[in-house]
Amino acid sequence: MKKIAILSCQMIRGQNLCPADTRCFIALSRKEGEFERYKNEEVCLLGIINCGGCEGNRNRAICSLVLLKRELSAFKENIDALHIGTCIMKFCPRKDDIIAAVKEKAGIEVVEGTHKYAPPTIFGN
Ligand code: SF4
Repeated sequence: MKKIAILSCQMIRGQNLCPADTRCFIALSRKEGEFERYKNEEVCLLGIINCGGCEGNRNRAICSLVLLKRELSAFKENIDALHIGTCIMKFCPRKDDIIAAVKEKAGIEVVEGTHKYAPPTIFGN
């Protein structure tokens, strides 16, 4: 079984702009978007962490990873892959810096993206 976690945008989650993280959960349950890679195996989401906020820097995201690791270790768990949330991929002006830091420090596979449900335009077809 593949065990994964998601790194999300604190601002989007904190302001409830992505209610209940539903898009990621639906994509995972359907194995769509960047979760399609797990279509032939079981996958389990063990946590959703956030970047630490716009006022922070790349180290805040790394702190989130450290805290996740500690929490997982308490239960003798670990993750095989970390997904960068679509919220970060699409909307974060600091995403390149955050992703570079995460890839440098994670020590596991880092996948850029989760769901693909964000529409390309707001009012267009
Ligand atoms: S730094 Fe990027 S990912 Fe983090 S809260 Fe700000 S916009 Fe969201």
